[in-house]
Amino acid sequence: MTPVLPTVSDSTSRWARTRATRVCVPAGAKVNLGLRISGMRPDGYHLLDSLVVPIRVFDMLNICAGPRRVGAAPISISCEPPNAAPANDSNLAWRAAALYCGRVGLDLALEITIRKGIPAGGGFGGGSSDAAATLRALNALSPSPIPPATLAEWALDLGADVPFFLYGRPARMGGVGEVLEPVSMSSLPSSLAALVVVFPGVGLSTAEVYGKFDGSLTRVGGKSMFRAPSAGNGSLREELRNDLEPAATSLLPKLKELKRGLRALGARDVVMTGSGSGMFGIWNRGDDARAAAAWFRARGVWARATGIVEQLPAIEMDDAT
Ligand code: ATP
Repeated sequence: MTPVLPTVSDSTSRWARTRATRVCVPAGAKVNLGLRISGMRPDGYHLLDSLVVPIRVFDMLNICAGPRRVGAAPISISCEPPNAAPANDSNLAWRAAALYCGRVGLDLALEITIRKGIPAGGGFGGGSSDAAATLRALNALSPSPIPPATLAEWALDLGADVPFFLYGRPARMGGVGEVLEPVSMSSLPSSLAALVVVFPGVGLSTAEVYGKFDGSLTRVGGKSMFRAPSAGNGSLREELRNDLEPAATSLLPKLKELKRGLRALGARDVVMTGSGSGMFGIWNRGDDARAAAAWFRARGVWARATGIVEQLPAIEMDDAT
C-alpha cells in the first residue's frame, strides 16, 4: 500500500511548533546463529538463509530533534569513543535520518550522538542497528508515522540487516534480508542464554568477504553451486554453521586462533557471525561463559558474556528544554 505522505510544510511546521525533543534509543547487536548463502540474484545480491537473534550488547543513540536554524546543517553526528564509527554522512544513522526526513518531507535539525558498545565491522550489525534505531526514533517522534511495512521497505534501502533490526526479534532471514519469519524464543535452546561474543580487534569488509566467497564457489556448467537452503526444521547443531567463515578466515587467519581459544575455554560450539570478524561461543553454564569472556578481556580482547533478547528495548522520550 502506498502511504499518504504529509507535505513538507505540514510535518515540519507541526514538529517545529513543539519544543526540541530528545529521544534515547538502545540499538542492540545480533548474531547469525547460522548463515547459508543459497543463491545469487541476477543483480549480484546474495540470497541468504539465516537464523538471526538480537543479543544483549548495545549502542546507545541520543537524538535531539528541533526546528532548524537558517544556514545550519540539518543533521550532525558524533560518536563516543570518537573513532568507533564515522562521524559524517557515511554513518548509517546519518543516512537513515536523511532518508527518513527526505521521504517524509521533514526539514528539522537533528543532533545524533552514538555511544558505541558494539564493535564496528564485527558482523554484529552495529551500523545497521543504529540505522534501524534512527528510523524507529524519527517515526516515533513524527506527527504522521509511516506504516511498519513501508518503514521496512525503506530500511532495506539502507542495508540487508536493517529490516531485521526494525523487527527486533529472533527471526529466520531469507531473500536478501527482506524476508523475516518469526522464531519463538521457546523454540530456541535455553543454552543460548550463555553466549560469549568476541571481536578480534580488526573488522572485515562485508564486500571483501563476499568477493572471496564468490571466488571459492564450485562452478558446474558455468553456474555457481550454492548449498541448498535449510528446511528450517533441523536441530540447532545443524544450523550452527556460517558459509562465509572459510572466506573470512582466509582474509584474517587469526580467526582460527580465536576459534581454538573459545573451544579451549569450554565452548560447546563456535561460529562466526555475519561476514565476520566477530565470533561467538555457546556454553552450557552462564558462570563458565562469564569466566571465558573475562579471560579474553584480561588479554586485551573485546569479549562479552551475553544472551539472546526476545525483543529489542523501546525508545525513551523527553523534552530537551
Ligand atoms: P554487517 O551488517 O555488514 O555484518 P558489521 O556488523 O560487520 O556489518 P558494522 O558495525 O555495521 O559492521 O560496520 C561496518 C562498517 O560500516 C564500519 O566499518 C563503518 O565504517 C561503517 N559504519 C557506518 N555507520 C556505522 C555505525 N553507526 N556504526 C558502526 N559502523 C558504521
